[in-house]
Amino acid sequence: MVVGGGIGGLACAVALGRAGLDIQVLEQASAFGEVGAGLQLGPNAVRVLAHWGLTDALSACAAFPEALQVRDALGGARLGRLTLGPQVRARHGQPYATLHRADLHALLLQAARQLPQVQLTLSARVAGYTESATGVRVTGENETEYAARALIGADGLWSRVRSQLLGAQPVRASGHLAYRGMVRSADLPAALRAPLVTAWLGPRLHAVHYPVRQGEWFNVVVVVQGVLGQGHGGAVGADPQSWTHQAHVADLRRTLGPTHADLLQMVDAVPHWTLWPLNDRPPMGGPQEHARGRVALLGDAAHPLRPYLAQGAAMALEDAWTLGRLAEQQPAGTEIDWPELLQRFAHTRWARNARVQSRSQRNGSIFHASGLVRWGRNAAISLLGESLLDLPWLYGGPPQP
Ligand SMILES: Cc1cc2nc3c(=O)[nH]c(=O)nc-3n(C[C@H](O)[C@H](O)[C@H](O)COP(=O)(O)OP(=O)(O)OC[C@H]3O[C@@H](n4cnc5c(N)ncnc54)[C@H](O)[C@@H]3O)c2cc1C
Repeated sequence: MVVGGGIGGLACAVALGRAGLDIQVLEQASAFGEVGAGLQLGPNAVRVLAHWGLTDALSACAAFPEALQVRDALGGARLGRLTLGPQVRARHGQPYATLHRADLHALLLQAARQLPQVQLTLSARVAGYTESATGVRVTGENETEYAARALIGADGLWSRVRSQLLGAQPVRASGHLAYRGMVRSADLPAALRAPLVTAWLGPRLHAVHYPVRQGEWFNVVVVVQGVLGQGHGGAVGADPQSWTHQAHVADLRRTLGPTHADLLQMVDAVPHWTLWPLNDRPPMGGPQEHARGRVALLGDAAHPLRPYLAQGAAMALEDAWTLGRLAEQQPAGTEIDWPELLQRFAHTRWARNARVQSRSQRNGSIFHASGLVRWGRNAAISLLGESLLDLPWLYGGPPQP
């Protein structure tokens, strides 16, 4: 039983369905919709999709940028560049992709629907579960009960399964707000249409833009430090779980201040902005935070990430792939020992997920640095370039279980 039909939950259904297991996914939403904006998939995540035979489906909706460039948001200087395109494939065996979250979700949904073992149940908001020596009983908010041999909580940052498994722990507010928008490439000046991931680093802010939908659109995200409703859209005390607070470009322009003209042009070209507060949790402390008994956590439910290493969806895909590999390794015709399998999952995944969590968090402070730290950061990126931006330990994954 998988709770949550986001990227992680659907990926889990694909991985375990492919291994021949009967999987039921319970999703609270009444329909699968177009939620979110762009996301990036490093070669490690693309490798997972390739393993599931989804390379063509990915090519049909993603963009494959030629390079990642880092620019100073104030002066506009090009600080560093990591060549992507064919070179990243040569270095890491898979390309670097950028796409709309809704396209990745649709791709996984189609793959899950093609597996007869996978059953997707909508309008099923899970309230809790009870565990016995032989299985798990899951209760929906409408009192419906579901029985399963094991339970995977893929229910995101505010996971119910997590609070029952690990006890209630409040999420951590980062103090950062993400402004997100999409713009048609045709509406951008030619110089800004290049197939690049561009990261702008400025004091107390950073911005990233990259092509999606085979280059027809650009996704733009600007992360600033602030609070909903205080000089930004939304309202004080507004639902922190919402991904779509109304945002005003005037607030964003004021916060950006005297940043480089290219960045401002990009911001001005976006017709509609939404806003969401970024929250996370401290990095995982051990395998016991991934799985206990017949219950495991996957994706943001286990290890929510700040988006500063662009690996949130990637780690959810890696988690799912690992579960699938472990299930495939079970001798045919034998009953799966779920507590044992989930322990192996937890031991394979937790340290890598914790490392990506802390690196993402650290990047946030480096990206937003001012004064001497900003100067040192810029000098280091200019000096070290590719060797700083390329991450073989990450892009070579996921580790084999
Ligand atoms: C600003 C920003 C930028 C990002 N950029 C990137 C990026 O560039 N690259 C990247 O890899 N990642 C990025 N991410 C992160 C990425 O979107 C997530 O980390 C990733 O999608 C993990 O998905 P998940 O399935 O674990 O959780 P979610 O996507 O949150 O899915 C959880 C699902 O569970 C359902 N659910 C919740 N509670 C219940 C319940 N009680 N019962 C039933 N269903 C329930 C929800 O409706 C939802 O469908 C970004 C995130 C942010 C905030």
